[in-house]
Amino acid sequence: SSPGSREVDVVVIGAGQAGLSTAWALVHQGFAPGTGFVVLDADEAPGGAWQHRWPSLTLGTTHRVHDLPGLPFAPGAGELRAADAVPAYFADYERRFDLPVHRPVRVRAVRRTDDDRFRVESDSGEWTARAIVNATGTWTRPFVPRYPGQELFRGRQLHTVDYRSADEFAGRHVVVVGGGASATQLLGEISTVTSTTWVTRRPPVWREGPFDEDAGRRAVALVEEAVREGRRPGSVVGVTGLLVSTPYVRDALERGVLERLPMFDLITEDGVAWHDGRFVAADVILWATGFRAAVRHLAPLRLRGKHGGIRMEGTHVAGEPRIHLVGYGPSASTIGANRAGQAAARQLRRLLKDPGELPR
Ligand code: FAD
Repeated sequence: SSPGSREVDVVVIGAGQAGLSTAWALVHQGFAPGTGFVVLDADEAPGGAWQHRWPSLTLGTTHRVHDLPGLPFAPGAGELRAADAVPAYFADYERRFDLPVHRPVRVRAVRRTDDDRFRVESDSGEWTARAIVNATGTWTRPFVPRYPGQELFRGRQLHTVDYRSADEFAGRHVVVVGGGASATQLLGEISTVTSTTWVTRRPPVWREGPFDEDAGRRAVALVEEAVREGRRPGSVVGVTGLLVSTPYVRDALERGVLERLPMFDLITEDGVAWHDGRFVAADVILWATGFRAAVRHLAPLRLRGKHGGIRMEGTHVAGEPRIHLVGYGPSASTIGANRAGQAAARQLRRLLKDPGELPR
């Protein structure tokens, strides 16, 4: 069915940490759930990307999932699966605050209308809005770099998003690519059932724990600068470094699993090779090489600049205070998404509900 266009002040796209914290904040800024704003989410069930994370990812092995505003996350034991515990919390959150989440609704395109509003086109009809908060995360845009010979490889190639469990690799040699937390975690697991090789572009940055807030702030500042200049944002979680104190990292270090090789130069039918003649035979290449922002549906708005990214001022697109990107760039962490959601909602209230007062 294709219902007619529904009119609201704000459409929030995505119901992960970023979309839900924004929704909560919009209610508190006086936007009526349903008539003032809606949240459109492509997934079948609550939980954002967390519902798709591999089963062995527990709350104890994540960095930390911060509470959404207004309802503490009481996860209990660290052994709980993140893919169960976080979606259960989000489902409870949506119910508790009666948030107007429509799902599954996949947004295909956002366009400007003739009267300078936004038309949000989805696989379940259209909405017209005076402002947009995009909170679509990165999980649906896994990034795999290109290397010569990649298409010749006869083994299996997969990305972090496809990983389910180490057992499926038993007896096969696995090359894990990537210098982030996902790479070290998957190496830790896979190396308990089979042999592995780790390659990263840059030497990994090890950080002696506990996680220090200054390092976090410096990492966020770097990403902030990138998006202010319109460059592609790197991952905040990525630039904070690898925590030596994490039990699975310590264990993998002790077992000698985290001896890293520089990035290979090419891929052959049966392995990976370096220009200096080195070769490692491989059955599997696991690309733990990160993500890009899932913003293709915003393409008709032509937000990308000459540096390949979207130039930002705080949480909104530079020069366009009606389009906010929450969970993008410096706010792509659970705590960052919370803060950005509040900031976006406050600015939208000033912009849409307090005529005469200039947005800040
Ligand atoms: P998501 O949770 O990805 O939610 C996006 C939502 O948007 C989804 O529900 C999706 O269905 C929807 N969507 C996407 N496209 C569309 C569309 N076109 N139309 C409609 N809906 C759409 N951060 C931390 O702070 N602590 C951690 O411990 C931590 N651990 C992590 C572990 C892993 C393995 C990974 C990959 C990331 C981790 N991060 C962590 C980063 C963290 O997950 C994110 O910063 C944060 O959870 C993302 O929330 P989000 O709302 O932006 O995105």
